Amino acid sequence: MPDNATNNDSFTPYNLVDGEEYMNDKQLEHFRQILLQWKQDLMEEVDRTVQHLQEDANNFADPADRATQEEEFSLELRTRDRERKLIKKINEALDDIDNEDYGYCESCGIEIGIRRLEARPTATLCADCKTLAEIKERQIGG
Ligand SMILES: [Zn+2]
Repeated sequence: MPDNATNNDSFTPYNLVDGEEYMNDKQLEHFRQILLQWKQDLMEEVDRTVQHLQEDANNFADPADRATQEEEFSLELRTRDRERKLIKKINEALDDIDNEDYGYCESCGIEIGIRRLEARPTATLCADCKTLAEIKERQIGG
């Protein structure tokens, strides 16, 4: 599963009716459910990571395995860090839903779009601004 993307099997795509108002209550609710489900999945994943780390810590007896274990350790810590950041983003998106700010590009203000948000429910930029931001990021080297 790539960063920042939900598993597309975990929800039913929104059935958009012609002329439907963007981000009406029904749509906001749709995304609230997606975000809450995603957050729950992530929290379970974090629990598993923590558990795994604790198990590893108990298995430090053999020094030969230590290097491998330390590598595994730092990998899991990175995973945990990524999960934590993602959960923070999900919380921010949920706040936006509460404030009815959700679904608009924070840079240019246009509608991000239902399908793009279903693929990336924490997206805060439209496709164009996102591309631009990525180009800028590369230019400053990271
Ligand atoms: Zn934009």
